Amino acid sequence: MSQPPIGIDLGTTNSLVSAFVDGKPQLIPNALGEFLTPSVVSISDGELIVGKGARERLFTHRDKTISLFKRKMGTQSQIKLGAEAYSPAELSSFVLSKLRQDAELYLGCEIRDVVVSVPAYFNQQQRRATQEACKLAGLNLLRLVNEPTAAALAYGVHEKDAETQFLVVDLGGGTFDVTILEMFDGVMEVKASSGDAFLGGEDFTEVLAKQICEKIERPWHKLGGQFQAELRAHAEIAKVKISNEESCTVKVFDKQEIYEVKLTRDEFAEGAKPLLQRMLIPIERCMYDVSLKSEDLDRILLVGGATRMPMLRHMVAKHFGKFPEFNIDPDHAVALGASVQAALLAEDRALDDVVMTDVSPFSVGIEIGREVADGRRVSGLFSPIIERNTPLPASRVGSFQTLDAKQQEVLISVYQGESAYVADNIKLGQYTVKLPRKRKDKEYFEVLLVYDTSGLLEVEATLGSSGEKHGLIIETLSEDLSPEKLAERLEKMRTLKSPPRENEVNQSLVARLDRVYAMTRGSDRQRVLDMIASFESVLDQRDPVEIDRIRGEIEQMLNRIDDFYVS
Ligand code: AMP
Repeated sequence: MSQPPIGIDLGTTNSLVSAFVDGKPQLIPNALGEFLTPSVVSISDGELIVGKGARERLFTHRDKTISLFKRKMGTQSQIKLGAEAYSPAELSSFVLSKLRQDAELYLGCEIRDVVVSVPAYFNQQQRRATQEACKLAGLNLLRLVNEPTAAALAYGVHEKDAETQFLVVDLGGGTFDVTILEMFDGVMEVKASSGDAFLGGEDFTEVLAKQICEKIERPWHKLGGQFQAELRAHAEIAKVKISNEESCTVKVFDKQEIYEVKLTRDEFAEGAKPLLQRMLIPIERCMYDVSLKSEDLDRILLVGGATRMPMLRHMVAKHFGKFPEFNIDPDHAVALGASVQAALLAEDRALDDVVMTDVSPFSVGIEIGREVADGRRVSGLFSPIIERNTPLPASRVGSFQTLDAKQQEVLISVYQGESAYVADNIKLGQYTVKLPRKRKDKEYFEVLLVYDTSGLLEVEATLGSSGEKHGLIIETLSEDLSPEKLAERLEKMRTLKSPPRENEVNQSLVARLDRVYAMTRGSDRQRVLDMIASFESVLDQRDPVEIDRIRGEIEQMLNRIDDFYVS
């Protein structure tokens, strides 16, 4: 069987995979039967654990477990996991491989071609790191699709005849994106996109963790890493709880004392006000770029797990004077839309008349200097060549001239961003071009920028006098993958074995038991120890029916203990 179109939402907190089958997108469950696979990686005795089991180990094996690495994509960070260090792209490739495995088992065919979603606001380095993660996972990346665009596809694809302007607000675990789209006559067009790559649900968790800390009268910065992790774990559960209830109580152990901390929705909203304010900046910028007023918007869609917070829904409703929609589970929309995008690329008949166009979220240009009236020069200025929100693919040429007739070379530095000063923008790469020696005048040169449909950029400079062309390689910070480098990195990663799939459910429970053991004290701890002993012994007996029965019982008991800590 040939593979159906596949879309992957490689999220900061959770990742999902979906396939476009029988004319519609559908999510694929993992070995635990769940759609959400936590984007967490852990190493245990040379074995690689990805997903829920790894997430439980965040608390008990902090030096061997890592989450939120999407936030480091495109940087040169090397993240230590046990004895080895991995790049964020390598860690992401572990998650991608896991999703691929789940999809292959579920669909019964080999998976190679995928569409992967990225935050619209991902810059060049972050996009290239995602491309690299796919390569490392042995996947052929057909396209990067912007997350809000994917979400809009999931919502809009059934209404291809409608004429609608809509705004997508996407707040995931680590990133925030806003996009304005128009659906007209089957054409879905992104009009503007903006966001904040360093703002997400985890920042709200941090606010709540610090509120707990304040209430037990301990300075946050003086807490050890383990205690901070414990408060964050409580805060994460509490945050979800007060999305449904007005308040909750968290029990915290500190130096033999137990504190009962009451958290209310209103207090949380008050503490998170600065984060909500930050969200308004990209929202306003997007509205400005398309010259839209709130009343021009037909629909507002909420995407990303963190949009379940009532404070966010209120903020959006108040700001736009319109209630937002969330008919599709906010965690599912992006993955569903990514496989719709894959189906569009595969020209699936179910999507005959739908066309999708996207825009570049950033302005891209080069650094220039200016001569001012009295002959003085000002350097470090930004001259955009492709302005933000230009439809993709886009190709634009900028014409420039050197400042000096005697100049022997010109340094072309490419930046993306919206500031007039390059120092405040992101540097993508630079290139020194030697100029012809015999020259009387200043040299003219052109810089061609080409943005492809995945939002990836190519740059070429042409000298006016000789017509000589110079391609500029965008530094990917996370180095370009030559075939040798790829083979070397794959070899390093191959030393890690994946546990057999049938063990995953049990392994995940073992990790949870370990986490709850570490969190509890006194008699609770003894109860957890009893559970660990009985589960280990039933695992030894290898009777699947008995294992399932005991596992079910233990899960119920653990739920009760977790509820005791946050209720
Ligand atoms: P995503 O990256 O879209 O999976 O979103 C994950 C983020 O959504 C995490 O920060 C979660 O804590 C947050 N989240 C999920 N469910 C809820 C909820 N019911 N209330 C508040 N935040 C939530």
